[in-house]
Amino acid sequence: MNAPATEVAARLARLRERIAAACDRARRDPAAVTLVAVSKGHSAEAVRAAFEAGVGHFGENRVQEALPKIEAARAAGVEARWHFVGTLQSNKARAVAGAFEAIHSVDSARLLVRLDAAAPAPRDVFLQVNVVGEEQKGGVPPQWLGALVEAARAAERLRLRGLMTIAPLSRDAEEVRPAFRALRELAARFELPDLSMGMTNDLDAAVEEGATFVRAGRALFGERAR
Ligand SMILES: *Cc1c(COP(=O)(O)O)cnc(C)c1O
Repeated sequence: MNAPATEVAARLARLRERIAAACDRARRDPAAVTLVAVSKGHSAEAVRAAFEAGVGHFGENRVQEALPKIEAARAAGVEARWHFVGTLQSNKARAVAGAFEAIHSVDSARLLVRLDAAAPAPRDVFLQVNVVGEEQKGGVPPQWLGALVEAARAAERLRLRGLMTIAPLSRDAEEVRPAFRALRELAARFELPDLSMGMTNDLDAAVEEGATFVRAGRALFGERAR
């Protein structure tokens, strides 16, 4: 399933154009949007191709898959920042805090405590919010966010960067936009600077609504085998 390096570079150029166009529509500076290339389902070789094309941030959602890949990528000369974006169980907190510079999917105080205790160096964290109230999405409901923000601010080795959400699955930008807007309003209420939102299908609307981190997989690496 690995796309050749030239293909990854071409896809990256198209993806950057999409981000730039969305920034243009919203009168935002594209430099304020960091692309996190979600490499789940793709090899360390694909990571290396994207790195060589200019990507500096990678995302993974499963610890077991990510650890050997990060090691292999490093051995191949990839000097990137790694972001954990998947559902995170407390018993994996130590491994995640050890290998990832940023964790986007923190949704409990218990997890914050574990990550803080295990972090070998300061780590960036995002609190995942379930803004639309769909059962399967993960994340805290907005009414619990205040307590979680407080817990994150009390942590010693975690830097609270902002909020993260996964929008409802839809191809219609106007259907996902309210979720992104709600996340932006929550972040403003708690004076948090960063918004991790937008994936391959919906990153245009996310950027228009203020995303500072977009998490794109398929747009860069193509379809995943699973
Ligand atoms: C897989 C995944 C992405 C990337 O999704 P694509 O549709 O491949 O862009 C982004 N965020 C999270 C949390 C993911 O699990």
